[in-house]
Amino acid sequence: MRDFTHKIYRDFLTALKKRNFQFITVEEYFNSEYNEDKPFIIIRHDVDRRPKSSLKMAKIENSMGIKATYYFRTISQTFKPDIIREIANLKHEIGYHYESLAETNGNYEKAIEDFAKNLYRLREIYPVKSISMHGRPTSKWDSRLLWKRYNYRDYGVLSEPYLDIDFKEVLYITDAGREWNNELINRRDRVDSSFNFRFNHTEEIISNINRGVLPNKIMVNIHPEHWAEGNIEWYRVLFIRKIKNFVKKQFLS
Ligand SMILES: [Zn+2]
Repeated sequence: MRDFTHKIYRDFLTALKKRNFQFITVEEYFNSEYNEDKPFIIIRHDVDRRPKSSLKMAKIENSMGIKATYYFRTISQTFKPDIIREIANLKHEIGYHYESLAETNGNYEKAIEDFAKNLYRLREIYPVKSISMHGRPTSKWDSRLLWKRYNYRDYGVLSEPYLDIDFKEVLYITDAGREWNNELINRRDRVDSSFNFRFNHTEEIISNINRGVLPNKIMVNIHPEHWAEGNIEWYRVLFIRKIKNFVKKQFLS
């Protein structure tokens, strides 16, 4: 059975609802705006490219009464104000998917300027309070290092999930590289976890939810560009992903 289709995504959300999961945004998590007696999931989307695929996902979630957090890169192909606005109007939260240190090749002074400038551009559309690092696989620079020298709180940012969430307590699942928690092709999107779940197919995650064996606190990172509605789109995504993962493996080997 094909994975990463919108149908399976809907099944995944439905399974979580049946198990009484609360769907909370990153900001709600940090403001403790949720019921502590119920399980929760934070759905986080890193919008690397193809923002239209994020809009489609945002509509699916909204139609099911679900809120998520969308972290946008600010490169020209991704930074589309109309789409960002439309996703925010669907009750989702917007964050900044920064890559400043990779963008400036490790120049910290230029990187913090780049960060502040792009945060400002996003804030003309939405009052961004949360950021997440984009792990450019082809760069040797990890943009989180910027926070060794600067403090994002000085820029009115309240959270960076990679740095502020205790992933020994919250299960982290990511579809980076269009595979679940595959650290072989995924250089930076990893956390220090105390859990050991390995999924080969979204159906396996769903069956774990149905059996009630997943923890009560979960963050899932989903890249909407990996997921497709129809057949042609699905094969397009698969083809691109095969090439990208091949290139990534060359960089990592
Ligand atoms: Zn990214």
